[in-house]
Amino acid sequence: MPATHEVTNQAPPLYGFDAAAYPALWDGLRTTDTGWAADDLHRLGRLAGGEQAQEWGRLAEQHPPVLRTHDRFGHRIDEVEFHPHWHDLMTVAVENGLHAAPWRDLRSGAHAVRAAKNFVWTLTDPGHICPISMTYAAVPALREQPDLAETYEPLLAATVYDYGLREPTSKRGLIAGMSMTEKQGGSDVRANTTTARPNPDGSYRIVGHKWFTSAPMSDVFLTLAQAPGGLSCFLLPRVLPDGSRNAIHLQRLKDKLGNRSNASSEIEYDGALGRLVGEEGKGVNTIIQMVNLTRLDCTLGSAAGMRAGVLQAVHHAQHRSAFGTRLIEQPLMTNVLADLAVEAEAATVSAMRLAGAVDKSLAGDEHESLLRRIGLAVMKYWVCKRAPAHAAEALECLGGNGYVEESGMPRLFRESPLMSIWEGSGNVAALDALRAMAKQPSSVDAFFAEVDTASGVDSRLDDAVARLRKELGNLDDIQYRARHIVESMAMVLQGTWLHKHGHPAAADAFCASRLGGDWGVAFGTLPTGVDTATLIERGSATGA
Ligand SMILES: Cc1cc2nc3c(=O)[nH]c(=O)nc-3n(C[C@H](O)[C@H](O)[C@H](O)COP(=O)(O)OP(=O)(O)OC[C@H]3O[C@@H](n4cnc5c(N)ncnc54)[C@H](O)[C@@H]3O)c2cc1C
Repeated sequence: MPATHEVTNQAPPLYGFDAAAYPALWDGLRTTDTGWAADDLHRLGRLAGGEQAQEWGRLAEQHPPVLRTHDRFGHRIDEVEFHPHWHDLMTVAVENGLHAAPWRDLRSGAHAVRAAKNFVWTLTDPGHICPISMTYAAVPALREQPDLAETYEPLLAATVYDYGLREPTSKRGLIAGMSMTEKQGGSDVRANTTTARPNPDGSYRIVGHKWFTSAPMSDVFLTLAQAPGGLSCFLLPRVLPDGSRNAIHLQRLKDKLGNRSNASSEIEYDGALGRLVGEEGKGVNTIIQMVNLTRLDCTLGSAAGMRAGVLQAVHHAQHRSAFGTRLIEQPLMTNVLADLAVEAEAATVSAMRLAGAVDKSLAGDEHESLLRRIGLAVMKYWVCKRAPAHAAEALECLGGNGYVEESGMPRLFRESPLMSIWEGSGNVAALDALRAMAKQPSSVDAFFAEVDTASGVDSRLDDAVARLRKELGNLDDIQYRARHIVESMAMVLQGTWLHKHGHPAAADAFCASRLGGDWGVAFGTLPTGVDTATLIERGSATGA
């Protein structure tokens, strides 16, 4: 067929980048002793940005998992079938220790390094990061029951992805899930109706349901159920020690907005066998240790989504012209791109700073432990809350192409609200920050001690801290005002960390806009005088 036209002015696909070549990631990473991991991180970053892994992610998302409740003869099998590239993604994630590996890695900064790898690999497909995160987060909760931890922790931490329905202790590596949310309540897990009746041998028989259980192909689950002593946490394997299937029936897979490569199921327990983790009646205290770490990964996931959005938006703007000039050279576009880049830098430095706080608090640092408690609640709320607006604006930078599936931007956009729903939806996260302050007033001291380390550096930051102190001094209608308070805390902390650990251009742009009030409501409203060129260059770094 004769050509009707020549294709011009279209951006080439963005492949062959190093997802780890992001300066803000290193700014955050350097807050902990992690120099030993640099080569490894870049190797994973290049793999993540390569055409092959990007294709794995695209195909795993385009071919979502399928539930097979029965075999052809009518026997219940309760199995989920995944696209082969889902398994490729999981294999790389596990082999690189993005899951529970740091619990067995005694090098300093092991948790921060895991977080950075998680960030980098999320750029392939956020869906499979869900079971990877849950496996990471399950360990501290499991340690409440030393005999179970002794058996399962080495397998959860093993760097072998050993997929398949087999008795867990016969496998070379395990994946863990978390099962809390029921039909009548997710935030309020105390409303759980699933029951756990003790058996004479010390195990429990679980009857009831869960309305959301992601990664139902996991080998073991931490599950909440009402025991005689109250709401308790249990470990449930999918396959019992005698090789028979535990009575966990998969009813349906959710038809979700995004996160489609990952299976999220509705399940029923029909007398499933579970082992108590921690004390009876202390289920929330036990599982909250898992939730706290998955909250870190929600923050990391949102930051990684922002990094991906800026990368794609700048790439497009570099290759696309309108009105005779490349988009990247159009003043208003530079404002939008730089504003997106500032948000991504603030999110990334914050998430990585908090990942470092995990290492330091595990090493016994009291300040870091308190900071981690309050900082995580605050950032889980704010960074995850910013993600959808950020993704929408990044998508728009690609114009109509951004609205088309092939660009990958709709996938980024669909994924973006999830992290704010998971593990404490917006309001619940904001209220959790208030709870941390009320239950542990020393966490407020730790917060201000951290912020005070940047005192005098920037008058806009100093003024924002003074306003925040005043705001926190007023306890009237505190729940009603929770979002406003937590938002202010988040931005003050981000301003502090950008000044202490980030690039001066990012700190200045952040303080001028987010703290100094010289900013609009939409992205692209930075004041003049901001170093947009540096911000855009940093946001779009590909390592090339
Ligand atoms: C894709 C996906 C996968 C999931 N995977 C899992 C999983 O693997 N395991 C699991 O256990 N759960 C899972 N969940 C469930 C998720 O954690 C819950 O949906 C979430 O915790 C919210 O609970 P809910 O849906 O019952 O909403 P609700 O608790 O009914 O909350 C509804 C709204 O009310 C707000 N709200 C609640 N309490 C208050 C309050 N006191 N004051 C003001 N506002 C309030 C919330 O912020 C929210 O906006 C998944 C959810 C999704 C979407």
